[in-house]
Amino acid sequence: VEEPIHEAVLGRAAEWGDTPALVDGEEGTTLTYAQLDTFHRRIAAALAEAGVRKGDVLALHSPNTIAFPVAFFAATRAGASVTTVHPLATAEEFAKQLRDCAARWIVTVSPLLETARAAAELVGGVREIFVCDQAEGHRSLLDMLGSTAPEPDVGIDPVEDVAALPYSSGTTGVPKGVMLTHRSIATNLAQLAPTMPMGPGDRILAVLPFFHIYGLTALMNAPLRQGATVVVLPRFDLHGFLGAIEKQRITGLYVAPPIVLALAKHPAVEGYDLSSLKYIISAAAPLDAELAAACSRRLGLPPVGQAYGMTELSPGTHVVPLACENPPPGSVGKLIAGTEMRILSLDEPGKDLGVGERGEIAIRGPQVMKGYLGRPDATTAMIDEDGWLHTGDVGHVDADGWLYVVDRVKELIKYKGFQVAPAELEALLLTHPGIADAAVIGVYDSDNNEVPHAYVVRQPAEPSANDLTEGDVIAYVAERVAPYKKIRHVDFIEGVPRATSGKILRRELRERA
Ligand code: ATP
Ligand code: MG
Repeated sequence: VEEPIHEAVLGRAAEWGDTPALVDGEEGTTLTYAQLDTFHRRIAAALAEAGVRKGDVLALHSPNTIAFPVAFFAATRAGASVTTVHPLATAEEFAKQLRDCAARWIVTVSPLLETARAAAELVGGVREIFVCDQAEGHRSLLDMLGSTAPEPDVGIDPVEDVAALPYSSGTTGVPKGVMLTHRSIATNLAQLAPTMPMGPGDRILAVLPFFHIYGLTALMNAPLRQGATVVVLPRFDLHGFLGAIEKQRITGLYVAPPIVLALAKHPAVEGYDLSSLKYIISAAAPLDAELAAACSRRLGLPPVGQAYGMTELSPGTHVVPLACENPPPGSVGKLIAGTEMRILSLDEPGKDLGVGERGEIAIRGPQVMKGYLGRPDATTAMIDEDGWLHTGDVGHVDADGWLYVVDRVKELIKYKGFQVAPAELEALLLTHPGIADAAVIGVYDSDNNEVPHAYVVRQPAEPSANDLTEGDVIAYVAERVAPYKKIRHVDFIEGVPRATSGKILRRELRERA
């Protein structure tokens, strides 16, 4: 799809007119499609008048609000590349990102203004900080709505020009700026849409952050492109989330595994009417089949579907189509149209593996990133000369083409020549009624063997969980896995460290160990 992203997503906005596009899940404030359309155009004009030029990087620093998409599409229409910033970033972290991508403009919100100012001061080179709401001394996007400036005609080249510059999650190392062109994002939306049809009347809850590629596409671009209503929550807290589903009559949820876990196990779920829900889709981290089944059983829903992707893939490659009534448990889905996949041997470079064999997932298609910003070496390490992106994830495919993701290559625990996937052990631990959450890493024992070490959170709602011992946990797993996968150590902790996107931060646990 060779179209600028704002055209690809908002091309039919005027047609949907009074249909609500965005609803503030706490206050109820609504933006219609007609408003989204005119507001982002006026602000684009005002941004251009303020000096924003094609190719400038604009940092969008905000929690999920109904203004976020307006600011995003205004910026791309003005020709900017938008780098999204974690709203909880410290000034130093923010400054690092600003420096890395040489951002010239910031759009923030008044509660985060101090951090944005401090970050800009640390770096230099930022020409202006705008606010979405109101703050003394800063131009407001709200005031820009009154702009009479002409709409900028910046001549975007969808194939070459970078629309979004999200940073990868930094789960495995430093976050890297990922250059996604207008074409790669727009094409990926078109590839995914037939598998997840939506339209006016569908109400999607945006609780995962827009700044992360998953939120940006699944929660913002995809529903807005199809005329659905996006109900926006600025943060996740279980009661706020469940209350919003009930009150806003949410029909579809795009979440990450920790939320599926809460929906399956948390006692608070019983207190809410969640009958408006029609489906749940989970992505971003491994989801166990048992857990997914427990969640859909409890809520009386069709099986929780999965999708798979990564920032570098704009982000999607696999999805369980909504229309599929009985997807094979545990699969992340089937390859979407216009995309190629290989499963490559972990031992013999370049060797393709067959059905059922575990290897590294490699992808080729229009959604592959243009590259990492300013890191040509990292780019060539990931994308080979034939255009295959090596994902760093281990998976296998069945005879019907369903993909199963095992874990990341880097996370696999190598025990005496065997490979143990932490995700598999975590999933097993979660089937224990006394365990609310769990994470597994590899540690070296006194014989220098890498062995699984579990971090376990007791289930608060389960009285017997208090008596759970390390021995109990080890025995529970040992009864259910091959001997080489046995857990050797257990620590009880208060909570599993996770990124906002729901991923377990195993490196934090490794530091602890
Ligand atoms: P970094 O690359 O900076 O270390 P990250 O890889 O966590 O961080 P993202 O691009 O947000 O950054 O995440 C992509 C990764 O998430 C994939 O490579 C994969 O490991 C994991 N992932 C995504 N969807 C799924 C899924 N359905 N099942 C299992 N893992 C998934
Ligand atoms: Mg990654």
